[in-house]
Amino acid sequence: SVHIGIVGLPNVGKSTVFNALSTEARAETANYPFCTIESNRAAVPVRDPRLEAIAEIARPAKVVPTAVEFADIAGLVEGASRGEGLGNRFLAEVRLADALLHVIRCFHDDNIAHVGGGMDPCRDADVIETELMLADIETLERRREKVEKWVRGDRTWQAQIEVIDRLLARLGEGRPATTAEEPPGGPLADLLRAVPLLTAKPILYCANTDTSGRHESQTAVDRLRERTGQRGVDLVEICAREEEDLREFDAEEAEGMREELGLGERGLDRLVHAAYHTLGLITFFTAGPKEVRAWTVRRGAKAPEAAGKIHTDFERGFIRARVIAYDDFIGHGGEKGCRDKGLMREEGKDYVVRDGDVIEFLAGT
Ligand code: GDP
Repeated sequence: SVHIGIVGLPNVGKSTVFNALSTEARAETANYPFCTIESNRAAVPVRDPRLEAIAEIARPAKVVPTAVEFADIAGLVEGASRGEGLGNRFLAEVRLADALLHVIRCFHDDNIAHVGGGMDPCRDADVIETELMLADIETLERRREKVEKWVRGDRTWQAQIEVIDRLLARLGEGRPATTAEEPPGGPLADLLRAVPLLTAKPILYCANTDTSGRHESQTAVDRLRERTGQRGVDLVEICAREEEDLREFDAEEAEGMREELGLGERGLDRLVHAAYHTLGLITFFTAGPKEVRAWTVRRGAKAPEAAGKIHTDFERGFIRARVIAYDDFIGHGGEKGCRDKGLMREEGKDYVVRDGDVIEFLAGT
């Protein structure tokens, strides 16, 4: 499943965010064996009202949500790229993540030490991002030395040298390697497969705020928001400590308190949804008599890739897909109704899956 690494300076609330997320996951593990939990990793179910609506109609024995995995990656400090703190081990873990959730301290508390002195979210974000950029520069310089040797035997490697130099120039100006506009399959994609760059990963900011001492906290969030706006990064505001405290109450009580505190939609849901958005992910559904289930796939994926989420054999042996759009499924009483009205489409291997599609795959072996 999709894997998101939680990063940030010490004492900004990473573990608190992670604990709140994993409590959520823990509540679900009894039902969903795939929701594994380790000390610093948790698969969090994605709440989606469409799943319930489909289940109302299909009446399956089991309903299974899709999940996003979060990992708490402690140990990023200034100097990590030079191997300080847990430096290297930390960076190795960051490399494994599909995206990063960068927690930034926007709460004020004299009792909790702040590594930088006082609350300053933009400075904190800079410290972390600089470490990630320095690590990328080092990775690219090492890669360049290798590729230079290969060029002597095979000129086609020159294209990668050019990509490396372009990225080194960007990073040298203090800009991340993020290059969403690059076409897939080009020399950059080749390079990233060989050396995953940290600043090429999609990033999502999490402003950890306070409800007490609101004003100061809000000013901090506003400054951070200005920065994220300039960079086209998503920002989710959450109060990790309160989210964690609310876990002690049952759902209804927690809902009441949430209203009283003015917390709005559950911070954890907002986090999971924002992560989906940042990563360009969509959900499709399978709806049989035994099980109705939600699955995650990247936006733009074709039918065989979606089939592969269910079983790798389905991708290899893909024949075709029977697809019903979500609104049709709900509006016409499910599969039977849609079949009668000709709303169940037969699609081939080039079909681009849409968010909400209810799909049945036909595969051979
Ligand atoms: P980490 O080092 O980034 O993982 O930070 P922790 O999650 O361990 O949090 C450090 C300290 O800050 C803990 O004592 C938390 O209870 C506290 N903390 C976390 N979030 C908040 C918050 O929103 N407000 C306040 N006042 N304290 C918080």
